[in-house]
Order: sequence, then structure tokens, then C-alpha cells
Amino acid sequence: MAEVTGGHMMKSQSDVVIVGGGIIGSSIAYRLASGNEDLSITLIERDSIGNHASGFALGLLNPTNETGNIESLNHLSFTMHKELLEVVQEESGVDAQVLTMPHVELALDESEIPYLKCEVERINQFSEFKSSWLEPDEVRSMDSRITDDLYGGTLVEDVIMLDSYNVTLATAQAAESHGVDIVLGEATGIIYEKDRAVGVRIGDDQIACETVVIALGPWSGTSSLWVDIDVPIVPQKGEIVRVEGLNPPLGIHLHGVPLGDSCSVVQKADGATWVAATVQNGTGFDVTPSGEALEALSMRGVRMVPELESHELVLQTACMRPVTPDGDPVLGKVPGKEGVFIATGTGGKGILMGPVIGRAMADLITIGQTELEIAQFGLDRFKA
Ligand SMILES: Cc1cc2nc3c(=O)[nH]c(=O)nc-3n(C[C@H](O)[C@H](O)[C@H](O)COP(=O)(O)OP(=O)(O)OC[C@H]3O[C@@H](n4cnc5c(N)ncnc54)[C@H](O)[C@@H]3O)c2cc1C
Repeated sequence: MAEVTGGHMMKSQSDVVIVGGGIIGSSIAYRLASGNEDLSITLIERDSIGNHASGFALGLLNPTNETGNIESLNHLSFTMHKELLEVVQEESGVDAQVLTMPHVELALDESEIPYLKCEVERINQFSEFKSSWLEPDEVRSMDSRITDDLYGGTLVEDVIMLDSYNVTLATAQAAESHGVDIVLGEATGIIYEKDRAVGVRIGDDQIACETVVIALGPWSGTSSLWVDIDVPIVPQKGEIVRVEGLNPPLGIHLHGVPLGDSCSVVQKADGATWVAATVQNGTGFDVTPSGEALEALSMRGVRMVPELESHELVLQTACMRPVTPDGDPVLGKVPGKEGVFIATGTGGKGILMGPVIGRAMADLITIGQTELEIAQFGLDRFKA
């Protein structure tokens, strides 16, 4: 037994070591442990579970607002969340503060009408969602505090809003209840025999293992040195402002593109109204909340719900999305190494994607393959 940072005792050997205790590492640990009780699994986290983006995300689960390669996995993950949320909350005793609510994509400019009307048809192809076009008076009959300076909106019934920190903690603690060891420490490298992983270095210590999973979120680029291949992940700063809640509460997730930038306004289970989020590239690992973001988000929020103008600030947070050059995640075995896997690059969708990534990686680790369509998300796609 070796002691690592944080005072936790660590085993000297574990079948699987997962590095990174955000939603992705926690979801992989949970899925692996709940299906394979005989496997020993260690989850290593440098700071604390859900201390970064996984703890400070908006907490929206909505697979209907993104098309492209990732669309079907997003939808599957949404369905998996619906089955899992109750289970992980029960196994962990942590309340994830789940709310189900309608989503309205507002047309704040006349030019947005044709696109948003087409969205209705596309979204209605998914059996778990019902969508319809709302005229301006129909939007305002849902809540008269929504701006009257609008051209209608696309209604989507029903998306899920939860607390991203609580769901990450619930997932990690549910994993723990299935035998996963959570260790506080900083992983600094992988130990190999030839190209086969045989351990992970943690500070001055090490833990022997057969399988390593890299789930370092925006820090995943660091692992390029551990796997001898470029892991092209960069941090993208995102800020959220919480203001005093509306009374009575706003029971809708509003989204739009006020003043040319994407914005959500939603009242969450904490009672505050959240205005989210900025997208800032090139800021490195700086997560200092900025005056510019506060001002920008306030203007966007007020454009959508004018009454927010007089609402006091409750909290402003900043964290980092892990993003890849093509916007898709990185999922799979690391090429050229045996026993090393990576799961990251989930951008603004990592909370949604937790369950599907957990299952895909658990499949790969235990049976060497998965039915889920992740082949196109391998690290090798960046080689050329
Ligand atoms: C403003 C904002 C709003 C968002 N809103 C949503 C949303 O509404 N819905 C949604 O689905 N997604 C949302 N996201 C995206 C989501 O938060 C991320 O995709 C997701 O949290 C990434 O999870 P992760 O586990 O990969 O990374 P992280 O949460 O960053 O976790 C990585 C962990 O690895 C640890 N770590 C790093 N290096 C080491 C090391 N060497 N040793 C040990 N541990 C290490 C870190 O301490 C960290 O805890 C949002 C993101 C932002 C920024």
C-alpha cells in the first residue's frame, strides 16, 4: 500500500486504472464496475471529483441541437441517461436535481425563421421528442416574461436539466459502491513493457495495471508524452452567470442567438436563473471569471428575458471544454500501444455523452470491441 497526495491509501495493483475524475472518467468507471464485479478498478483524480468542467457545466441534456457524426450517439446517450439517472442517484444517495422541461429555440431575428421551421421536421423524426413551431404569441403564452421582440420559436418537449456536479459525484460514488477505488493523486506517466502498459506513475509512486484509460478532459494534451502520439486537445473557456431566480420560476429552457451569440436562459433547481455560456478560444488554462463575459452574458440574457435586467448576480463561474480540431470526441484504443485507451474531446456535450462513452469504453476494455459506432472517433484520424 502506498500513500498518495490527499492521504488516500492506494493499492499497489489494479486491473484497470482510469485517470481523470470528471464525468467521463466517472462514467467509464461506473459502467465497467457495474457489469464486471470481479474486475479491480482504480479512478485517479488530481483535485477532486467533478472539480472542473464536469462540475460547472450548464447541465442540459438535449441531443436534438447537434447534427453530424455524433448525432446518433448523443441520442442513445440521452436514452441511457433516462434509464440510469434514477439508478445512480439511488446507489450513491446523491440527488442530481433532475428537472424535465420544454426547450424553446427562439427566433430573435426574422432571418432565423426558415431554418428553425425546418428543425421541427428534423427533430420529429426522433421518437423520444415532439417538436412544433410556435408563433410569437404562442411563445409568450408559455411565459409572458419572454421578450416580445421575437419571430416565434421551435418547441422541443422534453429535455432534461440537471446539476452537472451532482450527477458527476453520483456517478463516481455509484461506481465506488460497485467496488471502484477512488484515489486522489496526480498521474504523471504510463509505465510500459515494450508497448504494453503495465502501470501508471502517480507522483513518486506507481500502481501496476493491465489497462489504462486516459480521461483528462482539457488536460488530455499532456498525455501526448505518455503515449508517443499527438493528442490534439485544447481547452476552450466557457463562462456562466447565475442571477436571482424569476418568481414564479421560469419552467422553460430558452435558447437563442441574441446579438449573434448562442445563449441559454434557464431557472435551475438551485432557484437561480442561469445565463450560459461564453465560448472563448486561445485562453489556455485560465479560468478567471471575466468582466467581459459578465457583460456579454447579461446583455444576451436581457435580450431574451428583459426582466433579468434588475436581477442581482448570484455567481459567475468559468471552466474549460476539452475540444478537438474537428469538434468530434476522441474515443478508443490508443494506436501503437497495448492496454491504453482514451476518451475525451467532448466539447460542450460531455455531460450528455457520459453514459454512451462509459458503455463504449467498457465494451472495448472487456471484450475488445463495441457495437456502438465509435470507429470514426479514433486518435488515428488526426495522423495525416
Ligand atoms: C460553460 C460550459 C457549459 C457546459 N454545458 C454543458 C451542458 O449543458 N451539457 C453537456 O452535456 N455538456 C456541457 N459542457 C461540456 C462538459 O462540461 C464537458 O464536455 C465535460 O465536463 C468534460 O468532462 P471530462 O471528464 O472529459 O473533463 P473534466 O471535467 O475536465 O475532468 C477531467 C479531470 O481530469 C483531472 N486530471 C487532469 N490531469 C490529471 C492528472 N495528471 N492526474 C489525475 N487527474 C487529472 C482533472 O482534475 C479533472 O477533474 C459544458 C462545458 C462548459 C465549459
